[in-house]
Amino acid sequence: MDLRHSEKDEQFRAEFRAWLDASLPQEMRRPEFWADLSEEESFQTRRTWEKGKAQDGFAGIAWPTEYGGRGGTPTMKAIYDEEMARVGAPSTVNALGLAFLAPTVMALGTEEQKRSIIGPLLHCDVIWCQGFSEPGAGSDLAALQMRAEPQGEEYLLNGQKIWTTNAMHGDRIFTLARTSTSDGGKRHAGMSMLLVDMHQPGVESRPLKQMTGASEFGEVFFTDATCPRSDVLGGEGNGWATAMLLLSFERGSSAIGQYTEFRRQWDDVVDVARALDRDGRPAAQDPVLRQSLAAALVELECLKYHSWHVLTQTTQGRDLGFEASMTKIMWSETFRRVSDSYEAVLGTAFGVPELGSGLRLEELTSLAMWSRSCTIWGGSQQVQRTVVAERVLGLPR
Ligand SMILES: Cc1cc2nc3c(=O)[nH]c(=O)nc-3n(C[C@H](O)[C@H](O)[C@H](O)COP(=O)(O)OP(=O)(O)OC[C@H]3O[C@@H](n4cnc5c(N)ncnc54)[C@H](O)[C@@H]3O)c2cc1C
Repeated sequence: MDLRHSEKDEQFRAEFRAWLDASLPQEMRRPEFWADLSEEESFQTRRTWEKGKAQDGFAGIAWPTEYGGRGGTPTMKAIYDEEMARVGAPSTVNALGLAFLAPTVMALGTEEQKRSIIGPLLHCDVIWCQGFSEPGAGSDLAALQMRAEPQGEEYLLNGQKIWTTNAMHGDRIFTLARTSTSDGGKRHAGMSMLLVDMHQPGVESRPLKQMTGASEFGEVFFTDATCPRSDVLGGEGNGWATAMLLLSFERGSSAIGQYTEFRRQWDDVVDVARALDRDGRPAAQDPVLRQSLAAALVELECLKYHSWHVLTQTTQGRDLGFEASMTKIMWSETFRRVSDSYEAVLGTAFGVPELGSGLRLEELTSLAMWSRSCTIWGGSQQVQRTVVAERVLGLPR
């Protein structure tokens, strides 16, 4: 494991840090600023800020320059994530497009798709949704039912997607649908990945409310919606292989950004424990709570060194393949552990934000709730553990 960065990587850090100091307004670093905005205002504010960041060259850090990226190293991307988390910069509004769609288009897209999709996505001119999950198809994605019937130069789409992140803000959706019925009953056959315009009469998005009160995801209904036959990614009938490649792009990234974010969260939880009374003394002096906080800190530090290990491996050109599922399990469970400590510290006062001032309670409560979703999306813990057992450890099926 290499615990040092090169001089060039550190120069990039200095440059990005200076840019953040100059370009991230102080108020945007404070949770109260975001709490006062409506969901729509918050999304558009983040979108505008992110657009400016891309214009100044701080987007697509490790992407090739031919696609508008910065042509940087995996370490520069990790430094970028770390610096963003350090200052509490707003998270990206185009996560699905950046993490999944763009690399898939670079690998499989036609020249026209590369030209028309990657640049506008990087600059947040087009917000992308991912339309995979359906009411009857989540972990078992091959059970999906949405149909896309070829009719002349178009497909006619009918069906429903669910848990679609950014459903209410999306401009386009990359979605899996059945384009053929003559697949001999094979569940993985006859699917295609379609790139569909969400601003058309046959597409209706409805919000779903999460326990945080936000509606970051929703349902998307397709009723005789259309999609040109040229807007298939990876070739008609190759949807399953295209989807597997797309999902694999989450692999290989280290969790240094997450570590930095959760470590800030842990520091704030300790501040809360010091300020809150528990049976006549600060909660931070309660031996059981101290154990919970210490256990969370140990996991956090393990996450840090695991992330450095992953970064060293990818920098040396190693493709981690299925091993990367271990990173997802580790960061999402560490996040849960820190959040559980926060809930234990607050006890019965959990969810009562007016307890103390200056303690970021509202934000910490929201993070604790959000942490519960991270062990589900992108492949649930159980599914990830099966991947590690079968594909990494070679255990019998
Ligand atoms: C915040 C959030 C955002 C999301 N965003 C998107 C999005 O943008 N686009 C999209 O397409 N989807 C999205 N999803 C959906 C997500 O991909 C699914 O929730 C996930 O794949 C699990 O599917 P499911 O909810 O249908 O649960 P199910 O698959 O029904 O699973 C229910 C339970 O059974 C377990 N289980 C299922 N199969 C197995 C098995 N073979 N072995 C052991 N245990 C198993 C699971 O681990 C889970 O505990 C999002 C989900 C969340 C929470």
